[in-house]
Amino acid sequence: MMNEKKIKEQLEKQLDKKRMEHTEGVAYTAAALAMRYGVDVDKAYLAGLLHDCAKCIDKKKQYALCEKYGLELSESEKDNSSLVHAKLGAFLAKEKYCVEDEDILSAVLYHTTGRENMTMLEKIIFVADYVEPGRKPITGLDEIRALIFIDIDAAIYRILRNTIGFLEENEKTIDARSRNALLYYEKFTKN
Ligand code: FE
Ligand code: FE
Repeated sequence: MMNEKKIKEQLEKQLDKKRMEHTEGVAYTAAALAMRYGVDVDKAYLAGLLHDCAKCIDKKKQYALCEKYGLELSESEKDNSSLVHAKLGAFLAKEKYCVEDEDILSAVLYHTTGRENMTMLEKIIFVADYVEPGRKPITGLDEIRALIFIDIDAAIYRILRNTIGFLEENEKTIDARSRNALLYYEKFTKN
């Protein structure tokens, strides 16, 4: 694995300024959540750094790279280009950033869709991506920000409900993993 300094140097070249700021916000938020939930802080920070490593690659090129590397795309990934960077990112984290830790790779892989029964690191990256300090304020964000430190499963349900609602309004195909995650996390909500 590359050291953290090298990974950051590499990311600076791959990401635009705005995405780099978001990335650092996710990494620090993930580190704080790791402290709360007893996860390795360095691992959470690193997963945060890498989660969007493929995000600034041109959309067409993202599809071309998936083809080139033999990464199979689901119907929803074919239909919704904003999902592809997660799959490609997990691949690049392994092949280009030389990360072998499967925990980190799966956190990158599922950061956009979520899935049912997520690992704690997957949960942490999923919520950190949604609440990091640079996120533009949306309804209910302050509540979710507080909730992630109290009941991360209930927070995940709220986030899934918001993102799936948004996708439905925009008539996008909902990824099966997100749908399953929504059904799964519904039982953790109290309201
Ligand atoms: Fe992302
Ligand atoms: Fe992100």
